[in-house]
This record gives sequence, C-alpha cells and structure tokens, in this order.
Amino acid sequence: MLGQMMNQPLLISSLLKHAERHHGEQQVVSRRVEGDIHRYTYREMAARARRLANALAAQGMKPGDRIATLAWNGYRHLELYYAVSGSGAIVHTINPRLHPDQIAWIANHAEDRILFFDLTFLPIVEQIAQQTDTIRAFVAMADHDSMPVASRVPNLLCYEDFLASGDDVLDWPELDENTASSLCYTSGTTGNPKGVLYSHRSTVLHSFAAALPDSMNCSARDSILPVVPMFHVNAWGLPYVGCMVGAKLVLPGPMLDGRSLYELIEAEGVTFSAGVPTIWQGLLAHLENTGGRFSTMRRTIIGGSACPPAIIRAYQDRYDVEVLHAWGMTELSPLGTVNSPKPGHTALDADARLALQAKQGRAVFGVDMKIVDDDGRALPHDGKASGDLLVRGPWILSHYFKAEDDDALLDGWFPTGDIATIDADGFMQITDRSKDVIKSGGEWIGSIDLENIAMSHPGIAQAACIAARHAKWGERPLILAVRKPGQAVSGRELLDHFEGKVARWWTPDDIVFVDALPLGATGKILKNRLRDRFADFLLN
Ligand code: ADP
Repeated sequence: MLGQMMNQPLLISSLLKHAERHHGEQQVVSRRVEGDIHRYTYREMAARARRLANALAAQGMKPGDRIATLAWNGYRHLELYYAVSGSGAIVHTINPRLHPDQIAWIANHAEDRILFFDLTFLPIVEQIAQQTDTIRAFVAMADHDSMPVASRVPNLLCYEDFLASGDDVLDWPELDENTASSLCYTSGTTGNPKGVLYSHRSTVLHSFAAALPDSMNCSARDSILPVVPMFHVNAWGLPYVGCMVGAKLVLPGPMLDGRSLYELIEAEGVTFSAGVPTIWQGLLAHLENTGGRFSTMRRTIIGGSACPPAIIRAYQDRYDVEVLHAWGMTELSPLGTVNSPKPGHTALDADARLALQAKQGRAVFGVDMKIVDDDGRALPHDGKASGDLLVRGPWILSHYFKAEDDDALLDGWFPTGDIATIDADGFMQITDRSKDVIKSGGEWIGSIDLENIAMSHPGIAQAACIAARHAKWGERPLILAVRKPGQAVSGRELLDHFEGKVARWWTPDDIVFVDALPLGATGKILKNRLRDRFADFLLN
C-alpha cells in the first residue's frame, strides 16, 4: 500500500520561493570585486533570478545545458545558482585557481554553453577563450560602467545589461527532482579532473542535513559567512541552506584575508562561518595582532583538510567560538561527518575534549559509513582498527560525469580514498589517504601531473611526488627525484622547469635527490615508504 501524501518534487527553486515568501526582508550582503559592499533582500534576489532565467532562455539556454561560472562568493553568483538550476539547466562552477589549460579542458569536457565570470578572472578568460569549443557567450559579472574598454574576449556581454533584457515574471518549471542541477569537477584522483553531477533532490536533502542542529545548526537568526568558495563544492551547500532557513547571507567576494573577514564579521553581525583551516589561521593572526574580539560570532565549521588542534583551542578558549571540525568530499555534496559532541562529551576535561574534536566527526543522517580491510571485510568501530572509508547515501555520487559505464562504487559503496578509524561513539578519524594527491590550503594538487613534468626534464630518470606536511598549508608537494647517470641537474633547475606548466601554487616546495626510489613487486613506486621517510621534510 502506498502512502497518501503529496508527491511534490524536491526542487532548488522551492528554496528560493520559500526565502522570497517567508523571509523576503532578510538580507544578502556581498563584498563586490569592485571593493564596495552590496546589499539587498531575498525578495530582490528572487526577482533578479527570474529576470536572469528569462534572459538565459532568450539567449537559447535549454534544459540540461551547462552554464559555467568563474566567480567569487557574491550575489550575482548566487543569482546564477538559482536561475540556472531553477530553469532545469546545470550551473557548472569552475575553480579559477586551476591552470588555464585545465580550466579550458574542464569547460570543453562539460561542453559549457555560456561562461559567466568576475572581472578578476578576465585574464584567464582571455587566455582560454580561443581554446574552448562550445562556449558561445562570455558574460562579465559587472555593472555597465565597470566593463573593460578593450578585450580580446569574443562575444563579451555585461551581466547587468544581460539581466535587464529579461523580465521578472516567471513560474519556475516543475522538474523531476532527479534532474541534474549543478556540476563540480574534482582533481581528487589521478588523471584528468572528474565531474560530479548533483541533482535537485540530492541538493535539497543535503541542505536539510546540513542545517540540522548537530550539523551546521543554521536558523533564521543566523548571519552566515561562507568563506569556502562557491566554486568549491557549492560553498559546502550554504547558499542553499541560507534560503532554506531564511538566514542572512554574507558573501566575502575576493577578500579572504584576516582583516577583511574580521571587518565583515563585525559589520554584518556574522554568527556562523565555514572554511578551510588556512583561512582560520589568517583570521587568528589578525586577531592576535590587533587584539580584536568577536561581538557576534559563535561557531565555525572547519574542514577540507585536517584542522590542527591548536586552531580549535585558540578559537574556543580565547575567542569563545565553537569549532565544528567536519569532513566531506566533492563526491559527497560535500557533507559526510561533523564533530558535534554527544551527551557524555560535554563533561570531558579540556584535553580530552580537544582530542575528540581533532577527529573528523560522526556521520550525519543520510550518510552511511564503514571501514574495511584490503579484502573488503568490515572492521570494528573501536577507534583502533583503520581501513578504507566507504560511504553511501542519497547525496553521494554513483558515477562521474560522462563516465556512466565505469562503476565508481564498490558493492554499492563509494570508496573515499581516505583511511580512517571509527570509535565506539561513531566518531571517524582520518589517519591516512590511499589516493595519490596533495591537499594544499584545502585545494587539490595532482601528484601525477607534477611527476610527469619532473620526468620530462632531460636530466631526470625517475620522480615521485608526495604530500609533505606543512605548517601553513597543511600539505605541500615534495619531489623525490633520481638523476640520469652523468647528469648534474640541480634542484633549482628542476623547479624552474615547472614554470608555466602548472599554476604557480602547484610548484613543488622542494626537490630531494635520491639514488633510487623504493619499488614494489610489480615495479610500482612505494609512495607510502617515501611518505614514512619524508613526510616531515618541510617541517625541519
Ligand atoms: P572538500 O575540500 O570540500 O572537503 P574535496 O573533494 O576537495 O572536498 O576534498 C575531499 C578530501 O579532502 C577528503 O577525501 C579528504 O582526503 C580531505 N579532507 C576533507 N576534510 C577533511 C578533514 N576534516 N580532515 C582531513 N582531511 C579532510
């Protein structure tokens, strides 16, 4: 027998309609690329999103089309989130920190039709415009007066002119809730970046889970500052959560330094924020230098990389800001676990509480999680046994974009590439990583790409790239290289060889020359052996 409740699809447009109808006066505040502060209400945002959707339709956007963005966190980016997905098309957020060649590759793979970009990224767009095959129009997210006078970009349009060409009357279509809504590429594993295609249903369910008290605990009384970029897994879902709960949204634009963030937090009464550890380090340094205190900020979620206990301690003890350590992945929309205490934990002494908070946290409802050994057998949740972390749930990917024939799952579970323990209370702790990547300041660096560049140097016989621990960035790439016989290439020469081939921040921090690399039975380089020996190299 079937239940007899309404079968209403879970749609992203319903989040916007709710915000407009029930929180119409709530504010969205953005620091613009131009440097000034922009402020409007959800009511105005909803009207502009409808205009934008109409303008996009007039421009020929069809359901399923990919519409790309290269943009900071700001109100125009937010309008695109809702206008594109709400229309049944797919908003494809591209990470501008990637090398332009990679950006062009991703745009071609996604077959993007229109690219919206902040003026900060005009030089990138000028570089890639000729390399992209499917983009028919480039739209600068700017006022008419800020448009570049001369530019090499073909079909360059102005966002405000574009938007003004649509009217604000629109009934959002009743889509199937499984319709694709947004696309985000991750360079998480070897080879080319892979696309993760979210749906309306997965996004709305993820928003419910993210807003829960033991997750991000968001309400209409919050003023939320997503520092995590909207090009990085949809700013961890906060642009959707904001509309769902009717919170004030404060979007920091390009200015992510400690001083700018602090000013915004104080000026806009921010109560809750989210970002990677490096951001919180920068803010902490600013507070320590200036003696600043928070008037309204009460909690922050830190994830993307392991959060150093010293940061947790400083925010909690000195600034009265609760730190919620969290773990997630692009493939998980991204929320997997959040570290919120259980009843017995509130009585823990300071050191025991800190040790608990250093763990990545417990599964939110909707995420099923287990650890397995090399044979796929489930390991006990005793806080000691460590194994491959597998997850499943309604906002976890089943296939990568355009790789529908390659099963991304193991018996229905997604292998995260993280190695973890789970304790008796369900708290997961990452102990290592089986995937071959480096996570620097919360962003990926592909080790294989760096190895290939090192080995393209005529003096190098073999090279391996590992993630070495780093005090500021969490991890940085370190190359172990073997010279060809009779060659005297220096570390400096090899580092210079990376110039122009990758984004500058991908350049390895150092090169260590060795006589030979450790090889396994099949001839594969044993990177774990190298990690054991050199992981602390950059700390010394
Ligand atoms: P995000 O950075 O938003 O979490 P990514 O897909 O870029 O998403 O990266 C996911 C990977 O980052 C995880 O598989 C894990 O290796 C690492 N990671 C994320 N959060 C943490 C954390 N709190 N502690 C340690 N590693 C983390």
